Parts: sequence; C-alpha cells; structure tokens
Amino acid sequence: MAIKRIIDGVHVVPMGNANAYLIEAEDGLALIDAGFPDKEAAVFTAIRALGRTPDQLKHLILTHGHPDHIGSAAAIVRETGARTYLHEADIPLAETGGPFRPMAPAPGMLRRVLCRVLYDHNERLAPVAIDEPLVDGTTLPIAGGIDVIHVPGHCAGQVALLWRPGRMLFAADVFMNVMGLGDPLGFENLADGRASQARLAGLSFDAVGFGHGGVITRDATARLRKWARAR
Ligand SMILES: [Zn+2]
Ligand SMILES: [Zn+2]
Repeated sequence: MAIKRIIDGVHVVPMGNANAYLIEAEDGLALIDAGFPDKEAAVFTAIRALGRTPDQLKHLILTHGHPDHIGSAAAIVRETGARTYLHEADIPLAETGGPFRPMAPAPGMLRRVLCRVLYDHNERLAPVAIDEPLVDGTTLPIAGGIDVIHVPGHCAGQVALLWRPGRMLFAADVFMNVMGLGDPLGFENLADGRASQARLAGLSFDAVGFGHGGVITRDATARLRKWARAR
C-alpha cells in the first residue's frame, strides 16, 4: 500500500496493521511511531516517494513502547541516524527490547479475542536507545511545534502528540479506529485509560490519527467528544 497524504505536511505510512505518520517540515522529516518489526522498508519507501532520502529523517517520536509501535525503530535509526523520543516510563522497554508489560483485554468479545492473538508481552525486539524523554505539558521544537500529552492507561508511558501548525492530533492507542471508533485492544489500567480518553476528547484539533485504523479529518473533535461522552 502506498503512502497517503492526510493533510498538508502529514502522510500516513502503512505498516501492516499499524500506522506510522511522516511529518514534512523545513527542518527535515519527523516520523511518529515505527511499526511492527521488519517494517523499516515501508518507511524508506515512503520517504523516497516524497522525493526525500532516509538521512533526512531527523526525529523518530515513539508514542509508546509496544512492539507494534517501536518494532522497526532500531533498524530505522541504524539507517537514518534519527534522534529518538519516548516517555520515561517506557524507555526501559525500548532499551531492553522486551519483555513488555501485560495488558488486560478491553471490554467486549472482539477485543478479548484480538488482544490475546495480537499482543504478546513476552515478545523480544532489537533494543533501541532513546535520546530524549517525552514530558507531559512540553512542546517539542520540531516541525513548528508538537505538544506532548501523557495519556497512560493502555500503556503507562503512552503519549499523544498535537502538531500545532496542522492542528492534527496523533492519539496513539488511546482509541482505535478499526471498524469504527472504539477502545484499544487492551489496558494496563482501565481507569487511567478512560481518563486519557476524556482528556483527548477535551482538546481542539482538526484531524486525528490513530495507531490502528483510519484517520478522521472531518468533525474530528466532535466525534471524539461524542464517543467519550457515551462511555
Ligand atoms: Zn499499544
Ligand atoms: Zn498499537
């Protein structure tokens, strides 16, 4: 599947069952998330499709330390030299390459089945060194400004990112948009996860992308709010 433009300056890189997002800025390229293991070629293909070269990838910002988001990080860094970012609670996961923390399935039959099939906390990955911890309430001076919002629950070190110039929210696995907007596959802590969903639903943005499933580019704030209110 080819790279797809979402809004000006943002492309989604299809990484199998997970998404990564490329932000194009004057100061180079930034990639949000690194997909499952062995998916680095999809990133390099996407970068070349934009008329760029892999060495122009300057930043690799990881939303959380799960294998489907950091899986190809080591290989991407080896090729590009990109600077890496992750919340401190998940840095040990990336730097050891696993094992990961157990997660309880989210409510509902489908997620109970999929969580068991798709999430293996004993998985082992190539370790990747993290250059800079992501801190709640700070703004990364990357691509015109990216706000860091700590949203634990699904994963203790999860962050969402709000790219200011394009008013696009990267919601990671706070929600999932596969067969409709809904919960992620599982939670380490359900109460924290609900609080994080409510926190993101209280923000204002024009588009929202998820770790899994389609991007919402119309009525994004209203749709998240409506879903969160119904919980
Ligand atoms: Zn996850
Ligand atoms: Zn995920």
